[in-house]
Amino acid sequence: MLSRTSLSPLLRQQRYISRNISRSTFRGLATQSEPYDIVVIGGGPGGYIAAVKASQLGYKTACIEKRGALGGTCLNVGCIPSKAMLNNSHIYHMLQHDVKKRGIDVSGVELNLKQMLAAKDASVKSLTGGVETYLFKKYPVDYIKGEASFVSPSQLKVALNDGGETQVEAKNVIIATGSEVTPFPGIEIDEKRIVSSTGALELQEVPKRMVVIGGGIIGLELGSVWSRLGAEVTVVEFLGAVGAGMDGEVGKAFQKILQKQGLKFKLNTKVVSAEREGEVVKLKVDAAKGGKEETLEADVVLVAIGRRPVTKGLNLETIGVEMDKRGRIIIDDQFNTSAKGVKCIGDVTFGPMLAHKAEEEGIAAIEMIKTGHGHVNYDAIPSVVYTHPEVAWVGKNEEELKQAGVKYKVGKYPFAANSRAKTNQDMDGFVKFIVEKDTDRVLGVHIIGPNAGEMIHSATMAIEYSASAEDIARTCTAHPTLSEAFKEAAMASYDKPLNF
Ligand SMILES: Cc1cc2nc3c(=O)[nH]c(=O)nc-3n(C[C@H](O)[C@H](O)[C@H](O)COP(=O)(O)OP(=O)(O)OC[C@H]3O[C@@H](n4cnc5c(N)ncnc54)[C@H](O)[C@@H]3O)c2cc1C
Repeated sequence: MLSRTSLSPLLRQQRYISRNISRSTFRGLATQSEPYDIVVIGGGPGGYIAAVKASQLGYKTACIEKRGALGGTCLNVGCIPSKAMLNNSHIYHMLQHDVKKRGIDVSGVELNLKQMLAAKDASVKSLTGGVETYLFKKYPVDYIKGEASFVSPSQLKVALNDGGETQVEAKNVIIATGSEVTPFPGIEIDEKRIVSSTGALELQEVPKRMVVIGGGIIGLELGSVWSRLGAEVTVVEFLGAVGAGMDGEVGKAFQKILQKQGLKFKLNTKVVSAEREGEVVKLKVDAAKGGKEETLEADVVLVAIGRRPVTKGLNLETIGVEMDKRGRIIIDDQFNTSAKGVKCIGDVTFGPMLAHKAEEEGIAAIEMIKTGHGHVNYDAIPSVVYTHPEVAWVGKNEEELKQAGVKYKVGKYPFAANSRAKTNQDMDGFVKFIVEKDTDRVLGVHIIGPNAGEMIHSATMAIEYSASAEDIARTCTAHPTLSEAFKEAAMASYDKPLNF
């Protein structure tokens, strides 16, 4: 039997550890004799979903997260706060510029930015808190708050957020450490005047002039937010088009709509430097292929040139996990890294950096452990830009098909010919179907228009089930809905639309 004196250090250690772990029933950290079945490093959408799935399948599971809140980039500084700001800035903009023509007279509309930021923070808090206090309790997962690094493929050292260190033993480890902002060489991000997406979600006043470096999805979404709130926004893009990954035709239409909304674009333009001079940032820009240098001035510069994988501090060299030139962890088709028992999912490995892609991989990786099977269809991962109108696509675009030498047909239908869009006085954009020439199989669908981000899921299902355009055109669609434009575009790809 343990004496009082020999018991107290043990109790002290237990109490210390339990402060850093939250779970429904505290079972203590796994020891040499009782390792976890699955430990997930990273509590983002890839990691926390993998942990929940593992728990649901009966595995003794832990999730290690260093941020101090679950939900990763997505819930804390990505998808959720940006959508809160997009939604609320859209309402503000509608009240100022749109509702009068609908017979709604409003006066005294004023921006309360502090409250708008607080509303965003409240959404973030309720969602991140929900993962910790609801999901990880309903499906028991040990939440270890700290930074993990490998000692061996089955052993992790965790520097606990509250101080101290602990060791965790696992039969399987899933790396889901996500991504971070790619810095622009030579430009120092201070998150005040020169900001990343994280700082752009926290600006305490509307800048008069904002320059966005990078015309990708994040740059355009956040550029739209601040433009709607009153900033003069200029997007500087190295390439000749905006919306990387978008179908070229859709990208051009999107740029025109954004220009109509007040955003300015400098395409084929290279940023050379950005320096703060007091409260102003001076940017030197150049034609991308060499040309006349120009200086732009801005109150805030948003650096949005992409994201890079996070592997620093994991000690991957020790266990022999290989990475490619871009720092992404190399995996096989079962999410295995080059270290036995260590899998990897989400932004830190290949594929589009999207929350739902990370989630699908999390589920598949756990199912792979349980059954030897797990599946993600990378041809059916939708992308959405949450501006107004929204842009959404799934499958291949015209440029990709041309390059692959695939023969295809295109069917398009404008929202200007859709009864619901006309009724709603919201008619910008179109639906574009790309189908295989001989079979009419749906290869890609590209939508720019109201609610595109919801509508795209019918296209995702079509691709998932290898539907033909005719399958969609012969499916009854409620009237009057925006989805009728979707059906008519399918029709247009192999025959004629009916209302246009
Ligand atoms: C502004 C913005 C808007 C976005 N909007 C969208 C959108 O609308 N839709 C969409 O699908 N995607 C969007 N994304 C992308 C999306 O956020 C990511 O694709 C997604 O979060 C990736 O999930 P993940 O689980 O792989 O990694 P992450 O969400 O990055 O999570 C990884 C977690 O691991 C933790 N971690 C890292 N190293 C360690 C360690 N050693 N120990 C412990 N913890 C560690 C990190 O703290 C982090 O919380 C957006 C991103 C940004 C920046």
